[in-house]
Amino acid sequence: MTDQLIIPANINYDCTGCGKCCGGWAVPMTSSDFKRVATIDWQPYAKELNQPVNVLKDSLVSESENITDTNTITLNKNSLFRNLQDYEIKDSNYRYAIKVAHDRMCPFLVDNLCLIHSKYDSTTKPAICQLFPYSFNETPTGTYVSVSFVSQAVIYNTGQALTNQYDYLLKKYADFKALFPNNAPNWTSLKLILGQSLEWSKYLEYENYILKELDNQELGFGDRLNLIAKFLYSQTGKPITDGSLKLKYLDKHLLVNLFKIYFPQGAVVRGEADFNVNRFVYQLTWGNIFPGVVFKVNNHSFKLDDLAKIQFDENDADMSSLMYRYYYCKIFGKLYFGAGFGQLSLVAGFNHLAFLYALIKINSKILAKIRGVGKVSFIDLAQSIKTIEKRLGETFVSPNTAASLELLLSSPGRLKRVLATNNI
Ligand code: SF4
Repeated sequence: MTDQLIIPANINYDCTGCGKCCGGWAVPMTSSDFKRVATIDWQPYAKELNQPVNVLKDSLVSESENITDTNTITLNKNSLFRNLQDYEIKDSNYRYAIKVAHDRMCPFLVDNLCLIHSKYDSTTKPAICQLFPYSFNETPTGTYVSVSFVSQAVIYNTGQALTNQYDYLLKKYADFKALFPNNAPNWTSLKLILGQSLEWSKYLEYENYILKELDNQELGFGDRLNLIAKFLYSQTGKPITDGSLKLKYLDKHLLVNLFKIYFPQGAVVRGEADFNVNRFVYQLTWGNIFPGVVFKVNNHSFKLDDLAKIQFDENDADMSSLMYRYYYCKIFGKLYFGAGFGQLSLVAGFNHLAFLYALIKINSKILAKIRGVGKVSFIDLAQSIKTIEKRLGETFVSPNTAASLELLLSSPGRLKRVLATNNI
């Protein structure tokens, strides 16, 4: 491994201070974050924080309290902070979280500014807030930089090119190393497909091909993904059969189950951040009796037939640019296979990423339908990408999930059916 940073081209980012990244999730905190932020007397800011003073008093942690690196402090249930549950900790240094406010935003976001930052400084904020939206993936040929599309500025490609921010990125990388001191991605057991190993140098050759075809302006975006998937599968030596483009029973249920994971309704509870094989098998078995193939958003159910009538223009310049940048960052950052995503093989990892395109289209069409229009616009797409990006960051890929995804997603035929324009 080398500490050299490798930066994606034509990707820009500067914080615009819009505050939109500060909502929808409980900001996780390390013990050191907690000691720094929770021991501040926030009582003078009760009005800004929209919290009763007595609640803030309850939330204060005495300087003398013994804060250790274990999850032993029980906070008052009304406080600004909470302990993380064991299943939320998962191999991380996080032990606490800032509770989301009633509007699902971080309570420290006041007039679109971070109160911690404005009253103290940027280094007082939780480490994850200081790092956001950068991500670093350490590989045998260097550390690949990427950015999260949860950020509004990233969605709009606003600010300076990342390639002009090398020194700043080095500082952010140092923050990353401090936050994840034991991070050591394992790229040694790389696979092309289950049962076939893959050398890193060969992967890099494939990546050149993938990125070249991803930018193939002569094809629609779904067709580009299909072409790449077919190429990768052909490298396994397994035969490819050109079957019907009609969605199969299993394709539909797979879409519904993955949709539930990546576009969850309501608070995510334990177990929902993982692919539930039992639920999937249950739905396959009983799908004829229960209305299984519906996508639920805001208590409304949507069927594929309804969504097929909503237009999704792959040639729209802004939408096409956003899709390209999103997929480019995921692929360049190696955040979709191997140590970058649940140790999936390259074929299953790429197909999973391409499958997400179908889910993004479905959710974008639902949002357009909810708005009462017949055509997806940039804002529908942007919102769908932000949601799926956030969920990808918090979804735990267990060995069982990885095995299921390998089994269900390696087939280029399924992907082709799912991405067929007339189906979704
Ligand atoms: S602590 Fe500050 S930067 Fe972090 S999410 Fe809350 S408002 Fe945003």
